[in-house]
Amino acid sequence: MEQYNGNKDFKIDVPRNVKIILSVLEENGHEAFAVGGCVRDAILGRTPDDWDITTSALPQQVKDVFHKTLDTGLQHGTVTVRIGGEGYEVTTYRIDGEYTDGRHPDSVEYTSNLIEDLKRRDFTINAMAYNPTVGLIDAFDGMGDLQRKCITCVGKAEQRFEEDALRILRAIRFSAQLGFTVSETTKEAIRTLAPTLEKISAERIHTEMEKLLLSKHPEKIMDAYELGVTKVVLPEFDAMVECPQNTPYHKYDVGRHTVEVMKHVQANKTMRWAALLHDVGKPKSRTTKDGRDHFYGHAHVGSTMAVEVMRRMKMDNKTIKVVSKLVDCHDDRPTTTALGASPEAIRRSVYKIGKDIYDNYLQLVYADFQGKSDYGKENGFDAYLYTKEQYELIVKEGICTSIKEMNISGKDLIAIGCPVGEKIGTVLDELMDIVLKEPQKNQKELLMEEAKKLI
Ligand code: ATP
Ligand code: MG
Repeated sequence: MEQYNGNKDFKIDVPRNVKIILSVLEENGHEAFAVGGCVRDAILGRTPDDWDITTSALPQQVKDVFHKTLDTGLQHGTVTVRIGGEGYEVTTYRIDGEYTDGRHPDSVEYTSNLIEDLKRRDFTINAMAYNPTVGLIDAFDGMGDLQRKCITCVGKAEQRFEEDALRILRAIRFSAQLGFTVSETTKEAIRTLAPTLEKISAERIHTEMEKLLLSKHPEKIMDAYELGVTKVVLPEFDAMVECPQNTPYHKYDVGRHTVEVMKHVQANKTMRWAALLHDVGKPKSRTTKDGRDHFYGHAHVGSTMAVEVMRRMKMDNKTIKVVSKLVDCHDDRPTTTALGASPEAIRRSVYKIGKDIYDNYLQLVYADFQGKSDYGKENGFDAYLYTKEQYELIVKEGICTSIKEMNISGKDLIAIGCPVGEKIGTVLDELMDIVLKEPQKNQKELLMEEAKKLI
């Protein structure tokens, strides 16, 4: 370890288990460092998700010196060491071979030189290593880039993106997570090579895209647009940015409005995807009359498009279902129905949209307002507040707004002679209608009497 001239002025608080792994490897004559994301996050004062370790020891040598290990990634030199119920990835110093497919190296080769391992890493801020006795190894000025809040490739950006096009998206997602900017040279290379993202699998794109969306700065998706990245991975977003909204309700194009909405919803998967896609149907639905734009039916069109986008990204079915439903109903305004601003109108809306996602719906409606013009922000906001208040009352008082909550079931209907099959559903719907109108009628005997009339 003496050959490394680490910066000893710099101290990182390394967790006990990581210290144990580093010292066990050193006691056995190997080099070992914490490396990559954990070093970056520790310097920034963020809590690292996980601590990765890089070592001169070969995988078999790692397995020899620890009691509990798992072969989690032997093909790239990774062994997981288990200590105190936690797993730590320990990877042998590695040089990546040729990249002929723009996705992964054709081969990997072990090396005994830490700097060689650091060279293969994507960005300078991700290419630092730390060991409590040696200090910080920073061969590519990652520290300087952290101070400048800058994402820069290790080595020649074009070459690094040619090796693995996913790094293009990673650059933007790190800039979104950390609030950094991508350096000019790295940006130039992104602009040139963005089309090569087409080689990357949908799953890997989905992972990076989602990290960008769930980050503190989802607005960085505009960088992805400007650099030609969304054109390849999410062309629907380009159509949104290029779709103006000449209406008194809006001051932004659909894309910029969408960014504002994303910023105003919670940072979870459902809400950020719903915000991203809520107006995806607008470009296709836009009509202009007397110089004014209209987007009739955009929510419904958007819901179908949202399913296509999410399927393409190989997202899970549950998320696809909830998000597309939110897109479909995001423009529903229960107070504008014939019932007006009445408790019944809200009960019917909760029934239609679903109690399970009504919170999400209200959050999306609120965020949607925040992305509008001053006029648009005010128009209908009172009605939104009324809806929210009534919904909270429904929850607090346990007012029945779903078939599940009715004090009668399909079984009860069968017991009084209702034929099994479709009829049960239609009777339950009619009973639901009674209860939505008059919630106090949600009583078993009363509903049984009504049911008898319907069978
Ligand atoms: P986080 O886990 O918070 O998303 P991270 O920096 O730990 O961030 P990982 O994807 O876990 O990111 O990768 C760990 C490290 O491996 C990175 O810090 C980087 O040094 C290296 N790395 C990961 N993916 C690549 C890649 N595609 N090209 C080059 N180096 C990479
Ligand atoms: Mg990580």
